[in-house]
Amino acid sequence: MAFDCDLFVIGAGSGGVRAARVAAGHGAKVIVAEEFRVGGTCVIRGCVPKKLLVYASRFADEFAAAAGFGWTLEPPRFDWPTLVEAKDREIARLSAAYRAGLDAAGAALIEERATVVDPHTLRLSGGRTVGARHILVATGARPEPPTNFPGLELAISSNEVFDLPVFPQRLLVVGGGFIAVEFACLFAKLGAEVTQVMRADNVLRGFDDDMRVGLRDELRRAGVRLRFGVLPTRFERRGDALLATLSDGGSLTVDQALAATGRRPNTGGLGLEAAGVALDVTGAVAVDERSASNVPSIHAVGDVTNRVNLTPVAIREGHALADHLFGGGKGVVDHYDVPNAVFASPEIGAVGLTEAEALRRFAAVDVYLADFRPMKATLGGGDERAIMKVVVDGVSDRVVGVHILAREAAEMIQALAIAIKMGATKADFDATMALHPTAGEELVTMRAPTRRHRRPAT
Ligand SMILES: Cc1cc2nc3c(=O)[nH]c(=O)nc-3n(C[C@H](O)[C@H](O)[C@H](O)COP(=O)(O)OP(=O)(O)OC[C@H]3O[C@@H](n4cnc5c(N)ncnc54)[C@H](O)[C@@H]3O)c2cc1C
Repeated sequence: MAFDCDLFVIGAGSGGVRAARVAAGHGAKVIVAEEFRVGGTCVIRGCVPKKLLVYASRFADEFAAAAGFGWTLEPPRFDWPTLVEAKDREIARLSAAYRAGLDAAGAALIEERATVVDPHTLRLSGGRTVGARHILVATGARPEPPTNFPGLELAISSNEVFDLPVFPQRLLVVGGGFIAVEFACLFAKLGAEVTQVMRADNVLRGFDDDMRVGLRDELRRAGVRLRFGVLPTRFERRGDALLATLSDGGSLTVDQALAATGRRPNTGGLGLEAAGVALDVTGAVAVDERSASNVPSIHAVGDVTNRVNLTPVAIREGHALADHLFGGGKGVVDHYDVPNAVFASPEIGAVGLTEAEALRRFAAVDVYLADFRPMKATLGGGDERAIMKVVVDGVSDRVVGVHILAREAAEMIQALAIAIKMGATKADFDATMALHPTAGEELVTMRAPTRRHRRPAT
């Protein structure tokens, strides 16, 4: 049967673009459909614009610390529209680079929505149908709103927050996950009055408990008013402002409410069920280790599969799949020991198991913990803390997790992830010479365990 292409990719985000470029590089005829903007969530309304806003927010701490180092500054002023405009220029540049990459690889781009008709046919929103030997679903995820309540439609999601025309002087953030925490922190540092509410009793469920407690304290220091076990029950318009009623009976008036309560795989209305593609309970495309769905010609990578929802993972999955389909590769991606971060200020960087996860997996666990005041704070002022934590399998001596709450923690973890992936032991850490004066030297100078867990023999 003659198809219009060897691979039809739905979605020009992190995973889709990489798969398209690599497949085209292997000589496959590739078509990519994108309904919004080339680059996907990461480039247009995720990692990249977020990190640019985080950088902007961190000047506040630098200005505050400068006097302790002898600088005298005019009171600094911040202009939100200038930042949004600069951010827009950078994401337009990146989006163009993604587009040029597809073009250079010889993959055709169609800027329309695509839906699946059957295992080898797609329909474009312009009305055309396309036949494909393989279909790759790389449609990502979308913000999942909180359970409905009156006025919820007045809230914005992370999709809109990057382009607010006016800086929200009073912001309500709903949610306690990494996206909610990052926005709460960065808007607080930029000068907003931020209240963050969540159902849970602390931020960042799933992260290591020492990091969660440490970051909670840092968020409070940044001025974020944290309210645990509280959710909004009603939003009402009050002129340009919003009156939020909360589940504890309280209320507050804000300029914007940002709902950041999670993300859901983007499979709605794609035609997957009609084509016989199995979805899991979260609505994600159920795939095997080679990113294949139960329909042999349909594959899926990235957030739409809800495995590890991070850009480098989507990219790796897209690359591996293209190698597998057209280059004879195995197609399997290792999802263990994926480094991750929370870009608050200070930030969390983590790789491997949390202490709680290690306790479930190993009979003996040693935990090394350092909690200290970073050197810069001695002259700069403030009571910011840094926390470094190393989790070790007490039997094999292997380091199974490292968690850092500090400035540049993500940069440290990216480098450390190599050692963890290679199976470094605590003895290897101890044998590594410290680099002085750094915060990271704590990682190789912690000699005695802070906590020793031994599961009693049964
Ligand atoms: C606010 C925020 C911050 C984040 N920060 C980080 C971070 O710091 N580090 C990190 O690693 N990850 C981060 N992420 C997660 C990261 O953005 C995602 O993991 C990554 O973008 C997933 O890539 P993907 O290819 O699966 O999907 P996406 O990049 O979302 O791309 C999917 C594309 O498909 C398109 N599409 C959907 N349906 C159709 C259709 N029917 N037809 C045509 N096109 C369609 C969409 O428009 C989109 O462009 C963040 C996410 C958010 C929301």
